[in-house]
Amino acid sequence: MSDQSFLGQVHRAFDAAATFTNHPQALLNQIKECNAVYRVTFPILRDDGTIKTIVGWRAEHSHHKLPTKGGIRYAINVNEDEVMALASLMTYKCAVVDVPFGGAKGGIKINRKDFSEHELERITRRYTFELWKKNFIGPGVDVPAPDYGTSSKEMAWIADTYAQLAVGDLNALACVTAKPIAQGGIRGRTEATGRGIYFGIREACDNAQDMKAIGLTRGLEGKRCIVQGLGNVGYHAAKFIVEGGGVLVAVAEYDGALHNEKGLDLDAVMAYRKDTGGLKGFPGATYLVESRAALELPCDILVPAALEGQITAANAPRIQAKLVAEGANGPTTFEADGILHQRGVMVLADMFLNAGGVTVSYFEWLKNLSHVRFGRMEKRFEETAFTNVLRAMEDLTGKTLGEERMSKLSHGADEADLVNPGLEDTMISAWHQVRETWTRHDRKMDIRTAAFISAINKVAVSYQDLGIFP
Ligand code: NAD
Repeated sequence: MSDQSFLGQVHRAFDAAATFTNHPQALLNQIKECNAVYRVTFPILRDDGTIKTIVGWRAEHSHHKLPTKGGIRYAINVNEDEVMALASLMTYKCAVVDVPFGGAKGGIKINRKDFSEHELERITRRYTFELWKKNFIGPGVDVPAPDYGTSSKEMAWIADTYAQLAVGDLNALACVTAKPIAQGGIRGRTEATGRGIYFGIREACDNAQDMKAIGLTRGLEGKRCIVQGLGNVGYHAAKFIVEGGGVLVAVAEYDGALHNEKGLDLDAVMAYRKDTGGLKGFPGATYLVESRAALELPCDILVPAALEGQITAANAPRIQAKLVAEGANGPTTFEADGILHQRGVMVLADMFLNAGGVTVSYFEWLKNLSHVRFGRMEKRFEETAFTNVLRAMEDLTGKTLGEERMSKLSHGADEADLVNPGLEDTMISAWHQVRETWTRHDRKMDIRTAAFISAINKVAVSYQDLGIFP
């Protein structure tokens, strides 16, 4: 592993943060290292009758809490180093948002566009079987979720395969999260990472003093935003940012970028991309062939939400955003982080900002283990109780609310009513915990280092409680 590899970058960031803690080196080493890595190869039969050998990994970074948790990525550049780096980030991410899991990550080295739906199903099911064979999947062991190149469809195949293997396991559906609703999924999971990014940005922008320090005014309203990657994370982040008052001035995809200082219509861009297969030719915007150039356009907030290693020492000096909000995992290299910090750019680190997905995955896992939908037991009771209180108020005041207002105010909480505020509260309190660490150290470090310190201290407590480390 070189310093420049993704895992090397994560380790360097960890080491920088560890200098602000008092933990013994042996404990820090235990926290930092990956506990288990499983590499697998298997053949699949292609639709044309040929055989293709597939390679994949699953890394479980930390068993200090079980199960371990983390997405599965389908991408041609997946490798062991990347999977281990992403698994490490998952451990710290879960700690930052107080989700009681260790970190894990999986990857299959394929470009999904090269395979038919049936082939992808065979690959996913066989990968699940391989994980099961070595006890790398299960509700109390290791629980995957989607990541780059995967979605609820793959999660449905994983859940179904696991359920066939784990005969009689009542909790089988809790072996994976972000499933379709009918298969035990939870409302709000698909958009959770993007929604969490929005909550995190909104909360950070709400502090006038912090905003002034980076040359911005308080609040998200009117802030010019650029989003790289229009997949699950990027699209939803952009959607909620715009709904929250931000202006989407540019979007970047692998085939180019679009720029319009007055703002882009996100839904029109998505529809155009669906129809034509790309961004080129979209009316009312300037098209940039060199997609990465979009990262350097004038804006207030830059949201890299595609892949790691997008902001490097080469382009960091030219980034014009005052706030970089990391939707993707590891989009900023260690060197670039230093440059941005020196230039007074605030970086809302991945391990805090994109934790919305794992937070709602945690809610889904709890739902699967309890075998009941959130709100199912209380909804009607709440509605009756609220109605009774409101009717009593009407009697006391002699005024009536009217049926529409009455039914709105007496509405009992269903699943989405509980999941989205649960996510909002998690992101807000995580931000304040990280910010508290940051200000306690007189803001001498960047936000990533502060988030790392907070995470390291939380994981350390788990090991200390075991009595192994002082
Ligand atoms: P996705 O596959 O849904 O979307 C990725 C998008 O990025 C695609 O539209 C793809 O075309 C685009 N893209 C690829 N290369 C690009 C390039 N060079 N320039 C611009 N765009 C490019 O994946 P996702 O789930 O949205 O994940 C994106 C990132 O967010 C990854 O780093 C992932 O690890 C991270 N993440 C995902 C989740 C989640 O819940 N899905 C949670 C936390 C973090």
